[in-house]
Amino acid sequence: MFDFMDFELGDDVSEQPLSSPYIPDASECMRCGMCVSACPTFKLFQIDEETPRRRIRTISKILVENLPISADERMHLDNCLQCRACEAICPSRMAYGRLFDQVRARLRSAPSALARLAFRLIENKRRRTRLMPLLALYLKSGVRKPLRNSGLLKLLGLANAEALLGKPAMQTLASYHPTRVARRGRVALFTGCIAEQFDRDTLLAAIKLLNAIGYEVLVPPQQGCCGAIHQHNGQSAESLIANNIAVFNALDVDAVLHTATGCGAMLAEYQSSDGEASELFRQSLLDINDFLLKHWPDGLQLLPSSLKVAVHEPCSQRNVLKNQQAVYALLAKIPDLSVAPLADNSVCCGAGGSYMLTHPENASQLRELKRQAIAAVRADCVVSSNFGCAVFLNADNGAVCHPLSLLAKQLPDQ
Ligand code: SF4
Ligand code: SF4
Repeated sequence: MFDFMDFELGDDVSEQPLSSPYIPDASECMRCGMCVSACPTFKLFQIDEETPRRRIRTISKILVENLPISADERMHLDNCLQCRACEAICPSRMAYGRLFDQVRARLRSAPSALARLAFRLIENKRRRTRLMPLLALYLKSGVRKPLRNSGLLKLLGLANAEALLGKPAMQTLASYHPTRVARRGRVALFTGCIAEQFDRDTLLAAIKLLNAIGYEVLVPPQQGCCGAIHQHNGQSAESLIANNIAVFNALDVDAVLHTATGCGAMLAEYQSSDGEASELFRQSLLDINDFLLKHWPDGLQLLPSSLKVAVHEPCSQRNVLKNQQAVYALLAKIPDLSVAPLADNSVCCGAGGSYMLTHPENASQLRELKRQAIAAVRADCVVSSNFGCAVFLNADNGAVCHPLSLLAKQLPDQ
């Protein structure tokens, strides 16, 4: 029997800003088991150790009882994808994501040399930018296939990351994009860390759509990674959070928009030592799908399309932002387009932020299930509002794009 009553999270409800919703702590887990069937790792392993309920017991041991945990308990804890499907279904509204981040921070150990390099690259735009010509050369050179076959990448622990590589955009995205129609306002676009190089199509589509509905777009070059990868892996994201809050709060804009729901989920829960500044930031933040829907001009008609599209609903969208319906409503603006949700949209695709790299076998099994659902729906393409999911699902054979790319293609010439 474990006791949650002495749970000390350091973020007591009384410390929440008054406008925040009430967030229960782990003591309110009723162990009802409603989360069990929602959990993708339970789907894979079918054992109690791979359920959210059991992980909360382990979390209690670490945070409440200050007890050591076994290697087995650690493994089952680490198998969690942080998809938060358990949180969305829990009648006690357990803040599973928040608890998990706290445990990861408590269990923090020195990252491997490779992980350190990845963190540094995510943090440092200049280093990333310098690396891009080398990466482009590698992808063009023809050595990719022989290098993969040689087994060297596997030996160096780089095989999984290498398999996800796409062609990077080499030019920096301009920081100002004026509208050519009657101006209605100005928004800022959150691009985060690698989207500017690897998800350029989505960002350009976002800018094109925003300009088309009368908004000029700022892309502040000083912005950086949202911090999700750091925070979910027990590293401090404080400086990344503080930087983004300072950069975006300094702008005179109607809204700060994100295009990737994985980043959006992190941004929407930003907390910093300056509570007022983080509240200000969160108030101006909006998912771009919601913004476009809200501000779509009555007179703007899109061109028809005869495509059949399947909608993948990322966990960050379903379980945190909870705005997946905005995608369907936006796609409905394309005349003749046939739209269907993927079966089992409630089950994670396996990407899980960095999970696809840290737990490649579990991640591949979940991706396989998702690919079966994609094959079954017989769609011309699949849309996903999260870049991470799209990259993972697209590895080696992909037809997944952002819904904004589809919408932007149907804009009439203006
Ligand atoms: S659904 Fe919520 S209350 Fe029930 S066992 Fe899972 S975490 Fe606990
Ligand atoms: S976050 Fe997802 S993988 Fe982790 S326990 Fe909850 S449902 Fe399972």
